Amino acid sequence: KEKQKELVEAEKYVSEVYEAIKERNPHEVEFIQAVKEIFDSLVPVLAKHPKYIEHNILERIVDPERFISFRVSWVDDQGKVQVNRGYRVQFNSAIGPYKGGLRFHPSVTPSIIKFLGFEQIFKNSLTGQSIGGAKGGSDFDPKGKSDGEIMRFSQSFMAELGKYIGPDVDVPAGDIGVGAREIGYMFGQYKKMKGAYEAGVLTGKGVSFGGSLARTEATGYGLVYFVDEMLKHKGLSFKDQTVVVSGSGNVSIYAIEKAHELGATVVACSDSNGYIYDKEGIDLDTVKRLKEENSLRISEYVEEHPHAEYKEGCSEIWSIPCDIALPCATQNEIGEPSAKLLVANGVKAVGEGANMPSTLEAIDTFLENDVLFGPAKAANAGGVAVSSFEMAQNSSRVSWTFEEVDAKLKETMASIFTNSIKEAEEHGVPGNLVIGANIAGFKKVADAMIDQGVI
Ligand code: GLU
Repeated sequence: KEKQKELVEAEKYVSEVYEAIKERNPHEVEFIQAVKEIFDSLVPVLAKHPKYIEHNILERIVDPERFISFRVSWVDDQGKVQVNRGYRVQFNSAIGPYKGGLRFHPSVTPSIIKFLGFEQIFKNSLTGQSIGGAKGGSDFDPKGKSDGEIMRFSQSFMAELGKYIGPDVDVPAGDIGVGAREIGYMFGQYKKMKGAYEAGVLTGKGVSFGGSLARTEATGYGLVYFVDEMLKHKGLSFKDQTVVVSGSGNVSIYAIEKAHELGATVVACSDSNGYIYDKEGIDLDTVKRLKEENSLRISEYVEEHPHAEYKEGCSEIWSIPCDIALPCATQNEIGEPSAKLLVANGVKAVGEGANMPSTLEAIDTFLENDVLFGPAKAANAGGVAVSSFEMAQNSSRVSWTFEEVDAKLKETMASIFTNSIKEAEEHGVPGNLVIGANIAGFKKVADAMIDQGVI
């Protein structure tokens, strides 16, 4: 009965804070969606530890410590002045300096940045490293831009962002539309502003100037290591499994590579226009080359592999029967209909490589049908984990080998899995990694907030 009372209290607290947040930010749909997913899963931990309610942690954690919004002006190749919006949310610094990627994509809004930043708090905590949560970006569209335009935009973006970051303050990295090239241009601009070589101010740098080996591979490899843990837990493995991976960016490419290495066959991947289906297994060299040649589309894969098919449309990729689905494109790419289709076709496991690729309804569909489900903040945490290894190498002025970084990445993914499974078990929802990961990530941050007082 006592337990029941605590559960009711926790539910009441969660719904009060959630309703208030929704009322204050009615148009921030992605942010509200991320808050809902996390808040609902925290009920059991709030019921068990009333200290989190007493310290009003939810109301404090859901408001960013700081939201920076700025103008980015730059000159295009025609000599015309262009203007974009730039953002950085410094969400939570309870356990370390702010850390999180930058996204350059026309869909970027304050809501997108806030959902990503909020997720990042819990993800970063899960890695076991001392890094707080942040995210940033711009509605700049890199598609079709020349190298010079990318450089001028990146410099202008950093000319403003550079005032708010630093190796012990806030350490940005890449995300959609931001890779080693953009990080390089931003690092150059920051160095010029500071007049000092602060290598640890950005991660995902080129290896010749402080970047970590295996950072490029980290998110995709880490995703497959995590899903492998999920499978092993049930006596399964990647061997001889059919896999569908959406997207064809950095995360997808290295997820495909590792899945193939573990003996699976990845039969499909996609870009924002459509997908390719190759029953014999995706030829990764072709995909890598098409991507390097930048403006080329994934549809051109079929020119070299005529037995493969190209189809327009994005969500249709989920109609391909597979054992394992790895959504690595973008938020909300799997809705309820796609989730139902995957279930009907016998999917055994889903691992989220992108951030929040499944809608709340899609997640419910997977969980209700006993599909092994690895939520993004656990499954894709390998990227930011290796970013924190890059920070460690920078501050100690050493470089680890690829094998060292890869081994640490593997260890990290296994421990995220173990901690999440343990929390799920302890809170009465065995096997539920959504709840387990959220609770594991939350506890460390919330405890640090309590210990540091009301600030
Ligand atoms: N953007 C990546 C993420 O979503 C990496 C962030 C980082 O390395 O700081 O976690």
